[in-house]
Amino acid sequence: MLRYSRADLYSEDVPLADIAARVGTPAFVYSSRAILNNYCAYHEAFAELPHTVCYAVKANSSLAVLRLLADAGAGFDIVSGGELFRVLKAGGNPNKVVFSGVGKTAAEVEYALESGIHSFNCESESELALINAMAARRGTTAGFAIRVNPDVDPSTHPYISTGLSEHKFGIPIADAIAVYERSRDLGNLSAEGVSCHIGSQILDPTPILEAVDKVVALAGSLRNAGFPIRHLDLGGGLGVAYRPGEEAPGIREFIQGLRTRLGASGLCIMVEPGRSIVGQAGVLLTRVLYRKKNGDKEFVVVDAAMNDLIRPSLYRAHHEIIPLRRRNLPRITADVVGPICETGDFLARDREIDNVLPGDFLAVCTTGAYGFVLSSNYNSRPRAAEVLVEGDRSRIIRNRESYEDLIRGETI
Ligand SMILES: *Cc1c(COP(=O)(O)O)cnc(C)c1O
Repeated sequence: MLRYSRADLYSEDVPLADIAARVGTPAFVYSSRAILNNYCAYHEAFAELPHTVCYAVKANSSLAVLRLLADAGAGFDIVSGGELFRVLKAGGNPNKVVFSGVGKTAAEVEYALESGIHSFNCESESELALINAMAARRGTTAGFAIRVNPDVDPSTHPYISTGLSEHKFGIPIADAIAVYERSRDLGNLSAEGVSCHIGSQILDPTPILEAVDKVVALAGSLRNAGFPIRHLDLGGGLGVAYRPGEEAPGIREFIQGLRTRLGASGLCIMVEPGRSIVGQAGVLLTRVLYRKKNGDKEFVVVDAAMNDLIRPSLYRAHHEIIPLRRRNLPRITADVVGPICETGDFLARDREIDNVLPGDFLAVCTTGAYGFVLSSNYNSRPRAAEVLVEGDRSRIIRNRESYEDLIRGETI
């Protein structure tokens, strides 16, 4: 949805320079069409197979984004009570919510039960016991799936890899049957499904398919043992292309690959995509403040920093950086850095980019996922504004924070 028309960069039918001028920078801009296209790619590829696409809220939890997906019929994968609050505020259907995470608190479990979520993805036996006790106190039955750890290597960055036995997530798949068996003694639980999620930014889907085969086999054994098991939750993790020429799996092809393995299972299939729905739908707009040279090294200092987008600093992630208005000048090689007082504050290092001047605007691409949600107020920097584009219209969906916002809730 990002394209140049003559020299100007557009999101859908809106020139991004207009948004930068009107809203200021830094600002995240999301294309609603891109988000909906990606959601529909999942939904339509499942075709007649019973399914729910549970968008992983942690990738981008802005209310307007959640509303867009709720209206399209999405379910939601949440990892905290705060995310549940957001989903409900945005009009999401609690009956399509699954709750993942290794550290659910009693208060969060209570809130989820009270809201009537579909199912808990449980990651330990103590968590099962807690959910059972809280459901008993309310006189209800809680649906659960055990998140199994299939011990496959997703070949991604170590911080976002989750499916190996050394990781904190899930219950080893070899122990799962015994845990389901012991859950029979917990009278307020219903074994609704089996879940897994092996990692994020996965560019080769083979390990996901390997995990799926293991989980399908487990679900079959559980059904034979008399457990209800109505759904399989296969998690998220499909990667997106961050670099030019990088190949990411197509959503439709990936789901078609799943369908051939799952068609006969008779189970409702759930997936929990985050990045592959919103990643490429977003850009971070920033303004060039200064150009400077230290020795041979060239720096472009911009007004967005690691507090706005931490992925380059945290994961050494690559984001393309392109001008909102192209000039025909020789390109330069520079570090693109923010104003934060840390050497780790950079958006790109030794990068060949357009020859930009102070006052020019740049777009940091593919920042719709794990962008704003990971932002902070470090260095007492107000957090960025967010804008949603719909066709030839754009609207602010989150105001830029003010200095007053920075000290809200504090006392001296
Ligand atoms: C983070 C996460 C997801 C989403 O991962 P993406 O890589 O953004 O698709 C899905 N499920 C669980 C349990 C997660 O922790």
